[in-house]
Amino acid sequence: MMAARRPLASLPTPLQRMSTLESRLQSGPVYLKRDDLTGFVVAGNKARPLEFLLGDALERSCDVLVAGGAASSNFVAAAAVAARVCGLDCHALIAGPAPARPPVTLALAERCGATLHFMPAAREDLDRLVEQHADELRRLGRRPYPLPRGGATAVGALGFAYATAELATQLAAAGHARHDEVVVVIPTGSGASLAGLLAGRAAIGVGWRTYGVSVSRPAKQLSTEVLELAGQCAALTGTPAPAGPDLHLIDSVGAGFGRVTDSDRGSMLLALTSEGVLVDPTYGAKAVTAAVRLLEAGERAPLVLWHTGGLPTALHQLTTPEEWR
Ligand SMILES: *Cc1c(COP(=O)(O)O)cnc(C)c1O
Repeated sequence: MMAARRPLASLPTPLQRMSTLESRLQSGPVYLKRDDLTGFVVAGNKARPLEFLLGDALERSCDVLVAGGAASSNFVAAAAVAARVCGLDCHALIAGPAPARPPVTLALAERCGATLHFMPAAREDLDRLVEQHADELRRLGRRPYPLPRGGATAVGALGFAYATAELATQLAAAGHARHDEVVVVIPTGSGASLAGLLAGRAAIGVGWRTYGVSVSRPAKQLSTEVLELAGQCAALTGTPAPAGPDLHLIDSVGAGFGRVTDSDRGSMLLALTSEGVLVDPTYGAKAVTAAVRLLEAGERAPLVLWHTGGLPTALHQLTTPEEWR
C-alpha cells in the first residue's frame, strides 16, 4: 500500500559526527541524527509523523484535526501549524488551566488559529477526551481527524518507518555497512517514533540495536504499546512485524515527565559545549545521558543518537535563571 504523504519536513536530516564528544569519552564513532533540523517550525521529530497524518486526513476529506497535550507539547504546536498550512482547522485540548504566560508551543498554536480548550484533566486522560471531542464535532456535522498524544497511531508511526531507510543510506555512505554493529538511541514519549523505527528496521532487515529512552511512561506499559503500534504500522506497509526482543527500553522517567534534574542540565551543557548542539531537558538531555552511560559501560559503536528537537523547551530552560541556581 502506498500511504498518502503531505510533505512538510526537509529531508534527509543531517547525520553529524560528534568528534569532540568521542574524544572526551574515548569512544568509537558517535553520530547525531539531526531531526531538530526537520525545518517545519520547531516541530523536530513531529514533522515526520505529521506528513503521514495530514496525508491521511486530507485523503479522508477531514476538515479539523483534534489534538491533545500539555501546554508545552511540541506535538500539539506542530499539529496546529500543519493543520493551518494544509487548510484544516485544529482543536487542541490542553491539560490544565491556561498559563498566564503561554509557552512558545501554545503561542504557535494560537497564532495559527487553533481553538484551545483547557481541560481540568491529566495528560493521561487526553486521548479519551480527544475521541469524545471528535464525536461532538461529528454530531455538529464536521469531519474530525482525532490524534492521540504524540501522533501515536499506525499511520503516524510511518514517519519513522521511512526514516529508517534514510538513516541506513547515510550510515552506509559513512562506511558503516555492517549494520548489525550499529546502536541507535532515541528519546521516547508516546512511542510513535520508536514503533516506526522498529517497523522500519524489520522492513529493511537491518540489525541495529535500538534503545528507547522512556521519559514519561513506565517501561512495561510502553513496551506493550510500542510493539502493538509497530505491528500495526508494519501491517500498513505489508512488511514483517517486529519481535519483542528487538525492543530495548531504558527507564529515564526519574521524578516524572518534564522534571529537570542536575544530570539533565549537565547533559545539556555537555552537548552545547562539546558540539554546539542544543538539546532540551525533557527528552534530548535524557537521551544524551543514556547514550554516555551506554558508551561508558562499553556499548559498541558506531552509536547514533537521535536528536528529536525540543527547541522551545531547551530555550525556556536556558533563559530561566532559577533553573540553573
Ligand atoms: C515528542 C517528542 C519526543 C518523543 O517522540 P515520541 O514519538 O512521542 O516517542 C522526543 N523528543 C521531542 C523533542 C519530542 O517533542
